[in-house]
Amino acid sequence: MTAKNNLPIYWGPDYVLESGVETRTKSGPLAKILIGGEVPGVDLIPPLPITHNELLAIHSEQYIHRLLGEERPELIRSIFASTGGVRDALDAMFVHGKAGSLSSGLHHAKRDTDEGLCYINGLALATLRAISSHGVKKVAVLDTDSHCGGGTFQLVGENEKVFLADVSCNSYDIWQPNSERHHLKIVKSADKYLDAVKHALKHLDGIDALVYNAGMDPFEDCMTGGMPGITREVLEERERLVAQWCEDTQTPAMFVLAGGYGGKNLDLDGVARLHLPTIREFARIRISPKSKN
Ligand SMILES: [Zn+2]
Repeated sequence: MTAKNNLPIYWGPDYVLESGVETRTKSGPLAKILIGGEVPGVDLIPPLPITHNELLAIHSEQYIHRLLGEERPELIRSIFASTGGVRDALDAMFVHGKAGSLSSGLHHAKRDTDEGLCYINGLALATLRAISSHGVKKVAVLDTDSHCGGGTFQLVGENEKVFLADVSCNSYDIWQPNSERHHLKIVKSADKYLDAVKHALKHLDGIDALVYNAGMDPFEDCMTGGMPGITREVLEERERLVAQWCEDTQTPAMFVLAGGYGGKNLDLDGVARLHLPTIREFARIRISPKSKN
């Protein structure tokens, strides 16, 4: 049971199975930090796995069939658990005003294929569920992973009820905005970064719900995606801006972790800690879930 204004966060030990990459491993140490009580006001909840049928809302039957046939049972259990967490966080957001899942590796996945460490596009799945199960008229994905979210664009870019705002530091998986609902900015230097985030938030004015892909790989010490000058302080301020925008506009919001990788000065525990500001900020804010109904 989630106490008043506590932040429900979905995670289970299956998230870290088949753990060659930080995409899955980092949620382990992060969950440990949260279980240790370092961030007050957080409830860690195990999700139910996603079902085969639910995946068919976003991916082709052939792709899911191929994935299941690869005989990598631990990988399948991991991505089914962490995608279930995205779904459960989406539903919890409409009850509590805010929620999260320690899921990662979503935004590059395309209808017929995995890509860039992403197997299932939980962001697309969450937006479609917000529309079909919760009746929202305008749902947005804000993506601050260092790389572009071309998979999300392919899957839901044409949907009239889905708004996309993408602030990247790298042109990997770039997509071409083709509607007023789309906003993409590839930042070229760290001093422009927070202004780009503010601009992206402006683009989201008037939405009914937010799915936030809170990537930490712009951090300067990340080997993949890092940009010199994007420090921990810059990313803390980014999370404050995003969460404060959600509170100020009373927009129900959920987050997932997205990118964040090790480097010369950054071990796995350090990567996990990079994601703490997202959780602290979401724990801090108050959003009345009924405000948009
Ligand atoms: Zn990335």
